[in-house]
Amino acid sequence: MFTDNNLLAKLPGLAPERKPRLLLVDDQAINIQVMHRAFAQDCQVFMATSGPQALQICQDQAPDLVLLDIEMPEMDGFEVCRRLKASDLTRHIPVIFVTAHTDPAQETRGLELGAVDFISKPVNPSVLRARVRTHLMLKFQSDVLRDLVFLDGLTTLHNRRYFDQQLELEWARSVRQDTALSLILVDVDYFKRYNDHYGHQAGDDCLREIAALLKTSFKRGTDIVARYGGEEFVCLLPDTGHEDAMRLAEEIAKRVRERALPHAKSDVAAAVTVSLGVASGNGLQGAAKDLLALADQQLYLAKSSGRARACGAVLGKN
Ligand code: GH3
Ligand code: MG
Ligand code: MG
Ligand code: MG
Repeated sequence: MFTDNNLLAKLPGLAPERKPRLLLVDDQAINIQVMHRAFAQDCQVFMATSGPQALQICQDQAPDLVLLDIEMPEMDGFEVCRRLKASDLTRHIPVIFVTAHTDPAQETRGLELGAVDFISKPVNPSVLRARVRTHLMLKFQSDVLRDLVFLDGLTTLHNRRYFDQQLELEWARSVRQDTALSLILVDVDYFKRYNDHYGHQAGDDCLREIAALLKTSFKRGTDIVARYGGEEFVCLLPDTGHEDAMRLAEEIAKRVRERALPHAKSDVAAAVTVSLGVASGNGLQGAAKDLLALADQQLYLAKSSGRARACGAVLGKN
């Protein structure tokens, strides 16, 4: 099916410009060297000679697969695997144990801890490469599926499930680091009338236009835009204070209006407009759901005070 020298080439599911990222963990440098030789050409290879170092690299570099030695001083491979599988951040990284043990009890223990495979030392480079290829392929396929679960089909933005998960994560980060977190809810004005007048298909097109516009409204890699449901969107802005969030919200309102999508049945303008509710907090007051409730309340205020505008508040302040 494939020849040995392009064993890792053209893995389905992997972006063409990206090489698989492989972490080799062994306390003995010679073992790492042997494995390194087998993968240096096709993979971006990271190396660790201890358990703690391996965990750190997994957190920082998000490798696609780990080849993990069992016998290591300080922290053994089983413990490294256990910790990887216990963290949301690293749980999806497949682990293959590479070990001198041939004891079935050890092998069972490794597999029960969540490892995908077991390879005995001394390793045969061809076998090693073939197994790594198989597990990389499975990993990339499950990445694609995992991403799909978090995507909104109509707009290709993230969906609510993803947003809910990120809100909790960012809230926790905001507590840990005592940083500001802001949230913007965006709701299309008189959208029921839009659908009734232009048809559902045109309504869908309109939502896609607004989604595209939202996507390009945020410059930071950490900002998240999601479809919250129906004709509502939500933007999660880590490390962003209230003034900046308000400025961004006003900018979105302006850009939507300037996009000038005709809306003959709106009471506020001849074009599609949005209302926005902004909430900011620092994670030290209340909970993530309070931030969401505050944004919702501010959105209601924007609606009831004339639509096509942004209203905002800071959590814990009246
Ligand atoms: P308001 O200004 O108060 O927000 O009024 P509204 O009409 O926008 O709000 P309402 O909640 O009454 O109606 C929302 C409408 O959005 C109802 C529904 O037909 C439409 N909608 C929700 N999801 C979709 C969708 O996926 N596609 C289309 N075309 N329309 C949708
Ligand atoms: Mg060892
Ligand atoms: Mg709505
Ligand atoms: Mg609406």
